[in-house]
Amino acid sequence: SKTLEAAAAEIKWNEAGLVPAIVQDVKSKEVLMMAYMNRESLALSVESGETWFWSRSRSELWHKGATSGHTQRIVSLHYDCDGDTLLVRVEQNGPACHTGSYSCFTGEIQGVKGTEAGASAFQQSSDRFAMLNQLEATIAQRYVERPEGAYTTYLFEKGVDKILKKVGEESAEVIIAAKNKDNDELRCETSDLIFHLMVLLRDRGLSLDEVMTELGRRHNKTKPSA
Ligand code: AMP
Ligand code: ZN
Ligand code: ZN
Ligand code: ZN
Repeated sequence: SKTLEAAAAEIKWNEAGLVPAIVQDVKSKEVLMMAYMNRESLALSVESGETWFWSRSRSELWHKGATSGHTQRIVSLHYDCDGDTLLVRVEQNGPACHTGSYSCFTGEIQGVKGTEAGASAFQQSSDRFAMLNQLEATIAQRYVERPEGAYTTYLFEKGVDKILKKVGEESAEVIIAAKNKDNDELRCETSDLIFHLMVLLRDRGLSLDEVMTELGRRHNKTKPSA
């Protein structure tokens, strides 16, 4: 850990006195946007706990969310190994992109080798639970963008009582499926339950990471000592 002055001395500010800052959603882990900081905007970010950048198009300090209200509360601030990039982990308030989308990175380049249909990167991943990450990110996106016709949008619009009702129903359906000794039904109902629980967590602003940490805490506590 470094103080602001010590860090600023190690950061490789470019010819224009700027350094790129990658902004990441601390909950979903999604990369939200990239913008530039100068020394002053970095100092303002540290002081205020919210992101400040240097707008190259407007040539002015820019408090993210000043006009849109879509501010970013800083959770951590890192610079990389060679000091040429910042990583800002944030709690994002509303969409990060000025177009209204959750993340700025919506322009996908197709046709990358090995990413043909049925072979997407996350399916190939060795992480058995990559789908939960993907689902959490999609739910976070739906929460912000509210695309019309999406079931997740419908749940968020209906509100927390509707989500809670679904969690209750799906729990009961899991019980029935298990009682019926029907594993096809149990697989489907468990999927329904997990999905609705994740929608509930998003609505309440609790991340899956916090749940995982809690599970880890309990696991470590109950492990028999070797
Ligand atoms: P805001 O900071 O959200 O109040 O937006 C103010 C202005 O900053 C917008 O009209 C855009 O010009 C610019 N802006 C906001 N968010 C982004 C972003 N993620 N990437 C690039 N420019 C942005
Ligand atoms: Zn670097
Ligand atoms: Zn954008
Ligand atoms: Zn169900």
